[in-house]
Amino acid sequence: MQVLIPFVIVYLLLVGLFLGSFINLAADRIPRGESVVRPASHCRACGRLLNLVDLLPVAGYLIRGGRCASCRTPIGWAAPVIEATAGLLVALPLVWLGLLWGALAGVGLVALWGAAVVAYAVRRGVRE
Ligand SMILES: [Zn+2]
Repeated sequence: MQVLIPFVIVYLLLVGLFLGSFINLAADRIPRGESVVRPASHCRACGRLLNLVDLLPVAGYLIRGGRCASCRTPIGWAAPVIEATAGLLVALPLVWLGLLWGALAGVGLVALWGAAVVAYAVRRGVRE
């Protein structure tokens, strides 16, 4: 069991990063009254559908230099920060609390983080 823990931590870090990616999507769409399911993720400026590289949390932002690959519109630094924070909130409690309590704490923390980010986005309103 002990040998597996580093793999579990890396796996949950990745889960957290992708949850962060979904938090960004929700924070972008919910204030506009849009569905968080459809359409597929696309650039707001040029409409280009995002591919696998664009959708990689944090790494996609760095690979694209923080801009849309087609129209070069800046994505904004908040997106990778929100993703990285979600990843750490899921992974770090495992290190401190162990597998069971760490996983439970991580799920709770990332849910709170998501709620806080989306609530902030709704309060701020749609910004073009
Ligand atoms: Zn674009």
